[in-house]
Amino acid sequence: MNPVLSALPTTIFEEMSSRARASGAINLGQGFPDSEGPDDVRQVAAEAVLSGWNQYPPMRGIAELRAAIASHYAAHQGLDLDDQSETLVTSGATEALAASILGLVTPGDEVILIQPAYDAYAPLVRQAGGVPRFVTTHPPDWSIAAGMLEAAVGDKTRFIILNSPLNPAATMLGDEELALLADFCVRHDLIAICDEVWEHIVFDGHTHRSLLTMPGMRERTVKIGSAGKIFSLTGWKVGWVIAAAPLSAAIAKAHQFLTFTTPPNLQAAVAYGLGKDMTYFTAMRAGYQASRDRLTDALSAGGYAVLPGMATYFLSIDLTRSGLVMTDRDFAIRLVEEAGVAVIPISPFFETEPVTNIVRLCFAKSDDVLDSAAEKLAAAH
Ligand code: PMP
Ligand code: GLN
Repeated sequence: MNPVLSALPTTIFEEMSSRARASGAINLGQGFPDSEGPDDVRQVAAEAVLSGWNQYPPMRGIAELRAAIASHYAAHQGLDLDDQSETLVTSGATEALAASILGLVTPGDEVILIQPAYDAYAPLVRQAGGVPRFVTTHPPDWSIAAGMLEAAVGDKTRFIILNSPLNPAATMLGDEELALLADFCVRHDLIAICDEVWEHIVFDGHTHRSLLTMPGMRERTVKIGSAGKIFSLTGWKVGWVIAAAPLSAAIAKAHQFLTFTTPPNLQAAVAYGLGKDMTYFTAMRAGYQASRDRLTDALSAGGYAVLPGMATYFLSIDLTRSGLVMTDRDFAIRLVEEAGVAVIPISPFFETEPVTNIVRLCFAKSDDVLDSAAEKLAAAH
């Protein structure tokens, strides 16, 4: 068997979803909504399929979507982007990550990863011949301090991969951390690959700020987004990369040999969606925030210690503070098999010094599903 392929792990999302399917459990594990996404965006996709838009589109994405990405970020985050040279459409953020890492990282380059780290980062860095250098953050605030970064950097370090808002912890980089990271990247001449797929799902009046807007970062930041999160259409796999022209050109080279393009009909619908007015985005956030509060209240009433979450559609339970003496993995397996609820243990988001007492739950589900999951969890406590 090919030794490289056999060395790759099965993702925890696939493992827990398979267990949920096998046991008929409620799946609050892998992150996806149980709704279908906005009717109007899906209508535009259906019309696009029927009216054309079915052959290979341009390699970097259809012009309509690239222009829509630039205008969207101008309106929502005050970015000034050149759609021609600084945008690239990819097949989901997963491909955006792969194209960025395979397009930029060269063998021997060291790449700083912050733990908890989304599970795709380290395998992709290794596939590019890079060497991950891990920095570990801790609950409940998962904050990054200067000393941790300085301890991980060396002569061969060329990249840092950041995820804000952060899956699985549901936190966001604050202004001080952004300033610290920008200063760190500039001083050590690093490129920051910023996975910002959760940028629109932020609560309690928080606003997302990209590292790209910090002093010195415009030319050295790769910003990744996903329509899957913005429109609750995770199966569409339409994502994008924003980066200064030289970085974008290198990433596009890798994209050519990964997928080359992304379905044009879905691109057309996402172009339409990105132009929706603020009411859509405000209502989406309010809907998810209400679900977060509903599940938090129900779990707290059931005896669980829920960690504060300010973004993403995940929340975390601290098992130790909930009075449960077992690892996240043991708890998750017991829960899916005996109580009928699938959750994600977060230890797989660590390769070194794992945090083993926290599980992640997805609350992008209908009230009925959240209520019955919370009931089952309370009974299992
Ligand atoms: N990065 C992070 C942090 C994610 O949470 C996800 C999906 N949940 C992705 C990347 C992948 O996004 P996509 O489905 O667009 O490939
Ligand atoms: N990103 C999703 C999550 O965090 C899962 C995506 C996947 O299955 N790879 O749950």
